[in-house]
Amino acid sequence: MNIDRDIIELIALTRCPACKTNGSLVPTDKPAQFDLSMPLSDITIRCEQCDEPYPMTEDMIPIVWSPSLKQVFLDINKDPGDDSTTVSNMSANMTIYDKNSENYSKHARQKDTLSRRVKKSVEILFPDGKTEGALHLDWACGPGHVLSWLREFGFRQIGLDVSLVNLRNARRHTGCRVICGDASDMPFSNDTFQLVTEASALHHILDWKAAIRESCRITSADGAIVMDAEPSDLQMAWSPLAIAVFNARFPVYKVLSYFMKDKYIFRDTKQAKLNLLAEIHHQPGTGFPLDVLRDTFKEGGFLAEVVMSPDAEMKSRPNVTWKSILLNVLSARNPWNPKYGSFTTIATAKTKS
Ligand SMILES: [Zn+2]
Repeated sequence: MNIDRDIIELIALTRCPACKTNGSLVPTDKPAQFDLSMPLSDITIRCEQCDEPYPMTEDMIPIVWSPSLKQVFLDINKDPGDDSTTVSNMSANMTIYDKNSENYSKHARQKDTLSRRVKKSVEILFPDGKTEGALHLDWACGPGHVLSWLREFGFRQIGLDVSLVNLRNARRHTGCRVICGDASDMPFSNDTFQLVTEASALHHILDWKAAIRESCRITSADGAIVMDAEPSDLQMAWSPLAIAVFNARFPVYKVLSYFMKDKYIFRDTKQAKLNLLAEIHHQPGTGFPLDVLRDTFKEGGFLAEVVMSPDAEMKSRPNVTWKSILLNVLSARNPWNPKYGSFTTIATAKTKS
């Protein structure tokens, strides 16, 4: 069997999402039938415990799916924008990013503050600078923004995502190893990573508490977790007037998209609807209750520190834009109060059972 050492090492870090056995997956040349409309490798990953097979794409991306991600892949030929199909949040994310990964890579998350803030978080968490060779997972990695920001620390980096297009872009941009899987039912063994990160991704996950629990499970006792650019319930508690104005942005985007095709991708209303489903906890009246967030980390043995409206130095300082001023003023609240901004969480291990 001709298989890259990188892939063997990657598979050694996994656990089987079907039977939850750590380290039970192995690459085999025992074929399996998968009803997927994409070219696959001759190598199939199998669980030595329960014999569940997992596909490997022709360009060697392991698809270690959870039962729900498997269903999304099996439904791949259905039109997700078709109103007669019930679209899941996971499927919406896959469709949106398979289609827009390239544009997202070029136009989103370009602000210097974002990369500096995430780097600063890592410097705070690893004050002795011992990051060389440590394992870093960025889940819902997209086209690889966070992976490339943290490359200079010398971690052995892995990207996890549901979108294969995102994973190919992440691998191309950063050279890191990638694996396709579900953030709320992760394909990794317990206590594997010294650093687990996500940025602007938790609010895309329907079962966000499961994604936090899974992050705690796969992080080692001396490891840490960073969750960046997430909305609190307070931030998203807009007044009906603010919501009405916010909803009026769609016609505006539609007009803009004719002039700036790459930047405003939601001219297509079908795509706009899918995006609402993808950004499930980033809608008016949603967002994360911070006490529940802290408790979920605590149950996973981690102490979470939340910084509201963090600047590039991880200090709480409101980042005021014309949009946040408008929404806050229409909601009768002070735009300069940091508690109405997004937040970053840094969690370190307190106790691990
Ligand atoms: Zn298994």
